[in-house]
Amino acid sequence: MKGNQHVGVIGGGIIGLCTALNLQKEGFKVSIIDRKGIAKECSKGNAGHFATEQVFPLADKHLLPKIPKMLLDPLGPFRIRPRYFLKALPWFLRFIWQMRKQPYAQSTKQLTLLNEHSINAYQTLLREFDLTHLIHLKGSLLVFESTCQDEIEQIKSRFVAHGVPATVLNKSQLNALEPNLSDNITAAIHFETGGHTTDPEALCIALAQVFIEQGGQLIIDDVSRINTGNKLLIKTERSHYEFDKLVIATGAWSKTLANQLGYNVPLDTERGYHLMLPQTNLLNRPVTSAERKFIMTPMASGLRLAGTVEFAGLQAPMNNQRAEILLPHARAILKEHIHPPSKSAWMGFRPSLPDSLPVIGQAPKHSNIFFAFGHHHLGLTHGAITGELITQQITQQPTTIDLSPFCISRFN
Ligand SMILES: Cc1cc2nc3c(=O)[nH]c(=O)nc-3n(C[C@H](O)[C@H](O)[C@H](O)COP(=O)(O)OP(=O)(O)OC[C@H]3O[C@@H](n4cnc5c(N)ncnc54)[C@H](O)[C@@H]3O)c2cc1C
Repeated sequence: MKGNQHVGVIGGGIIGLCTALNLQKEGFKVSIIDRKGIAKECSKGNAGHFATEQVFPLADKHLLPKIPKMLLDPLGPFRIRPRYFLKALPWFLRFIWQMRKQPYAQSTKQLTLLNEHSINAYQTLLREFDLTHLIHLKGSLLVFESTCQDEIEQIKSRFVAHGVPATVLNKSQLNALEPNLSDNITAAIHFETGGHTTDPEALCIALAQVFIEQGGQLIIDDVSRINTGNKLLIKTERSHYEFDKLVIATGAWSKTLANQLGYNVPLDTERGYHLMLPQTNLLNRPVTSAERKFIMTPMASGLRLAGTVEFAGLQAPMNNQRAEILLPHARAILKEHIHPPSKSAWMGFRPSLPDSLPVIGQAPKHSNIFFAFGHHHLGLTHGAITGELITQQITQQPTTIDLSPFCISRFN
């Protein structure tokens, strides 16, 4: 029966790919439609960190008093383009509303559940295709320069209280793991679980290759309209297609299609940047600076400096300065002389919702349409588990975790 069912997955980023592969495994005929191709947007240049320790939502009340200083600091991690301020305002009001105790606790609980299953879901998927070598399970480090020891212990205890294995390292223990970190670093928290990939784009391309080898179809086209009914008619820029079921995994662009179908969703984009340094052997695992709020990940092609949040929408051109500000930060916390960046800067559109939870699951008014978008800073981490959950729901199997908190109906 499943072989006769044709599922369309709109979006060829990590979320769409993992979903398509899981559906294929269950025997569905699957097509991916993407207007640009495989991993051409946010899934291409992210920091490659399977960040299973990140169980806390961004809407944290302790952030609020720090925002004015962050906005005034030219090297700061957070920017709103003045022209975008009014557009972003409703998102921010919802974001601030999420900082209350109960919503904060709810998002923490749901992120913890997703994170707990994320590495297992990747291993199950990658083992099947002999691709486990694409993930390195060496954990990660959160490093500190000016935070006092008591506060570092408190931060660690908060993680441990939420089931995240974490240890505080002193300077010599840290040095044994990462000898190229500078003496400015006074201590670190070591997260033993989690991992990284040395090329998120290559990971996506490897998944796409398997998908095609197994009979999957890749259509390069721009979806403009979805006509609903027993059969779903997808109108694209160049043609039209018919599917039995549809998964919408269009990342930061998902709002338009969801709105067309009659669903409200307060999706905006947190634009993030990366800069590549040529050195390939400076670090062994992802290292995040707690105070400078950026990450360095060892990649196959060099050291990737990534981070920053910029609110400027989907149309404004990238601002190279947002990437270049990462360089002085890296110089301050690495021992080695840093060579100038090898390649131009990159910018990606994180798909972000104010409650830091993605939308995963069936469309309440359309039994044959499923949403998988809004994975903000954790889309790489949550790729495989999202694909697994959507597939379980489509095949009406019990889902690994309860999907009701992720339903789009929370905004409608
Ligand atoms: C600087 C930076 C660092 C990051 N680091 C990490 C990290 O270390 N770990 C982590 O877990 N996450 C990280 N992220 C977040 C992560 O990259 C994203 O959450 C993830 O890539 C989102 O994947 P996606 O498949 O939903 O979206 P995308 O990769 O953006 O894919 C969406 C696809 O949909 C297609 N599309 C959109 N609309 C249409 C349409 N109408 N018709 C056809 N195709 C369409 C687009 O062309 C695109 O290919 C980072 C992000 C940034 C910017």
